[in-house]
Amino acid sequence: MSPPLHHINTSPTPPASADVVVIGGGIIGVFTAYYLAKRGVSVALVEKGRIGAEQSSRNWGWCRQQNRDARELPMASKSLDLWERFAAESGEDTGFHRCGLLYLSNDEAELSRWSSWRDFAKTAGVTTYMLNSRQAAQRGQATGRAWKGGVFSPSDGTADPAKAAPAVAAALIKLGGSVHQNCAARGIETEGGRVSGVITEAGVIKTKTAVLAGGAWASSFCRQLGIRFPQASIRQSILSVSPVEHRLPDALFTAGVSVTRRNDGRYALAISGRARVDVTPQFMRFAPQFVPMFAKRWRSLLPGGLQGIRGGHETLKRWRLDAPTPMERVRILDPKPDLPTIRQTHRRAVELLPELREARITDAWAGFVDSTPDGVPGIGEVPSIPGFILAAGFSGHGFGIGPGAGHLIADLATGAEPIVDPAPYRPERFSDSAWGKVADF
Ligand SMILES: Cc1cc2nc3c(=O)[nH]c(=O)nc-3n(C[C@H](O)[C@H](O)[C@H](O)COP(=O)(O)OP(=O)(O)OC[C@H]3O[C@@H](n4cnc5c(N)ncnc54)[C@H](O)[C@@H]3O)c2cc1C
Repeated sequence: MSPPLHHINTSPTPPASADVVVIGGGIIGVFTAYYLAKRGVSVALVEKGRIGAEQSSRNWGWCRQQNRDARELPMASKSLDLWERFAAESGEDTGFHRCGLLYLSNDEAELSRWSSWRDFAKTAGVTTYMLNSRQAAQRGQATGRAWKGGVFSPSDGTADPAKAAPAVAAALIKLGGSVHQNCAARGIETEGGRVSGVITEAGVIKTKTAVLAGGAWASSFCRQLGIRFPQASIRQSILSVSPVEHRLPDALFTAGVSVTRRNDGRYALAISGRARVDVTPQFMRFAPQFVPMFAKRWRSLLPGGLQGIRGGHETLKRWRLDAPTPMERVRILDPKPDLPTIRQTHRRAVELLPELREARITDAWAGFVDSTPDGVPGIGEVPSIPGFILAAGFSGHGFGIGPGAGHLIADLATGAEPIVDPAPYRPERFSDSAWGKVADF
């Protein structure tokens, strides 16, 4: 079942030309196009299905600095401000609010990792509080349990995955940007080696700059252009339950289960990191580069099935530019949730928060997370094709940094001073022999 998602109306006919064409209408694509349009750049965004219908509406909604890898922390901090500013400047509602994130634990090793992160974060100007057992019990009183400790990060928050991407696309349209749903990009045209157009199913859009914000489809698209972008999609499952009478924490992490209040009062329930790995030819191709990542996460990864192959997003086949491509055959990647995980998640949530016994399961869904070998996205112009900017591989934590990433991509596309140092994200690092450590979270 698909998660709830607001719908927006868009134009069926893309323009003949634009300064920048953005491929993909997830949170990264819409924020990129929004920040371009704000600068007066003419921008066309093409989305093969519906705005926000893949990962960007399937996530928990957490917008966090807490426990971020050092490479992503500056972008996470900027993003929180940008989420707030976006609402004020556009009048559109993404559901963002700084509710603070609560982490509870009985595991000394976990608490010690959080405490080390708190010390590191202080040096970056981020305030987060370690909770002793009394404070943890107080903040987590809805659990009715004792806790050894926890963390509360007051400046973090959540946005509403059902609303956010459509709200940003609506703001983009108000600024004069053009948005086209059910319009897949099939490939790129080049002249003298640099981008000269984007070939879509509805015709060519002439442009000098194309941004690929294609989420789980990015690697196979890059392959058509001779670009090697290692990506693995990991299938995560999640469910939502109806509102309950007593208010529970807005955003609560425990190792067993995490709970997030959505804007409509429902709660989203999920097990952090738990996922199925569906083996595909693309997975086999890049597997050696993912060994360190899988070695680090093996406890929470389970073998998957054929859904990765059925999705078509990890095909190794070359496709024609004058005939329907896999992106037109599968407009929206809507994998089936893993039922044993859904049952276990629900059971653990009810044990953790007895109040949830009254709640009814309203939806269950899954999403393919697009992971890179080091868990950090690839953002930047691809040196072999000037004018082609890659922005994918957000590795399960790209929703919260959507505004900062979009701003950075707009900076790169226009040659403006980058909002954060782009060096940690450069896509070429995946062809280096060593690309750095695997992100902790
Ligand atoms: C269960 C789950 C929980 C998560 N929880 C969180 C969280 O709490 N916080 C957080 O920060 N992140 C979270 N994430 C990760 C987050 O959702 C993603 O990192 C983020 O949404 C990625 O955004 P995106 O725009 O790159 O990709 P997507 O949202 O997947 O968008 C890519 C879009 O590109 C389109 N597209 C692809 N190829 C083409 C083409 N050729 N032509 C036209 N369109 C194309 C697709 O249709 C799709 O709409 C979670 C993810 C999942 C699955």
